[in-house]
Amino acid sequence: MAESRLVIFDTTLRDGEQAPGFSLRVDEKVRMARQLEALGVDIIEAGFPIASEADAEAVRQISQTVESTVVAALARCAPGDVDRAAWAIKPARRGRIHTFIATSDLHLSRKLNFTREQALGAAVSAVARARTYTDDVEFSAEDATRTDPDFLCQVIEAVIDAGATTINLPDTVGYSTPDEIGSFFVEVITRVTNADKATFSAHCHDDLGLAVANTLAAIGAGARQVECTINGIGERAGNASLEEIVMATRVRHDRLAVSTGVRTEQLYAASRLLTELTGESVQANKAIVGRNAFAHEAGIHQDGMLKDRRCYEIMRPEDVGVPQSTLVLGRHSGRHAVARRCEQLGLILNRHDLDKVYRQMVALADRQKHIHDDDLANIVAAVLGVPVTTRLRETPPGVSHEAGYGFGV
Ligand code: MN
Repeated sequence: MAESRLVIFDTTLRDGEQAPGFSLRVDEKVRMARQLEALGVDIIEAGFPIASEADAEAVRQISQTVESTVVAALARCAPGDVDRAAWAIKPARRGRIHTFIATSDLHLSRKLNFTREQALGAAVSAVARARTYTDDVEFSAEDATRTDPDFLCQVIEAVIDAGATTINLPDTVGYSTPDEIGSFFVEVITRVTNADKATFSAHCHDDLGLAVANTLAAIGAGARQVECTINGIGERAGNASLEEIVMATRVRHDRLAVSTGVRTEQLYAASRLLTELTGESVQANKAIVGRNAFAHEAGIHQDGMLKDRRCYEIMRPEDVGVPQSTLVLGRHSGRHAVARRCEQLGLILNRHDLDKVYRQMVALADRQKHIHDDDLANIVAAVLGVPVTTRLRETPPGVSHEAGYGFGV
């Protein structure tokens, strides 16, 4: 399969930011946008300008700030929305208007009180209006995965004719499954006669924990843009996580023959900046960027890591910007890791002493979760009968060691 370019559309500052507890001030959004540009995303969706004065201002300032990244602004299929979005992206070197309308009967009848014909008309008019401001226009059929396929294809064909260059088919409520969304993209791309004139895009939510899996299935079925967020933040259970999608395409390039422009070594910095700005941390076991993503405590795992890290790591922490793997000393650790840590602290123990240190360490770890360097120093001092703390201070915490491992807590 020939490799093709996958466009990364980051919506951290729009879908992510509109989730409860994640709102950011204008200056904070600008700071995050700079980091997203450093990360190398293709498009930053910076906000929904009609929603508030602050949203409009943030999009405007981000448009003035970023250099080469496309800045997108969201707009409903209404003239006022499109005009406001156009104003906000005007300073951008490259600006996109992203206009959307729901197409499922449920949303049309219960939420919008629109007929299908009204929705189709509004979509075509909004896309045509957006094209008078920029030649980069994206259309989203909200709730696409629950939309009647005949009607959806009719709308998509019409908006491409009206000038839409990207067609986004969101799984707005995270309802789809990977096999289903794959068939769905194949069906739409096959049936829409002018599909070759647009880039198809996936926007998956994580209500069933399937956002990334569904996004990858959509890529397999022909999507060449993915909408995602740092740390997977977004409405309800969140959006597909950017770092997971990007690393899946990189680590499993044998299964997903697409390339991105993302500088993966900036992923961790992006994740950390977002948690700092929002005050919302990610779970310890979060893939790629969680505190435990490259941490090992179990003895068998630590032993394997020390022999060859590929035993338990499918990617290198430095590839995603995490400084080093950590071998955490705790109740589940083994002698090999204790010996290595002692060595790194300048303490060479014979087998007999190591055995004693190891047993005391495990006993202490039964009472406290993690063993810090000071704890280990005290144990070694007691076993050897000499003070060792001064030697321990010679190795500053967090330094990289010859094998590239650090030990942390
Ligand atoms: Mn969404």
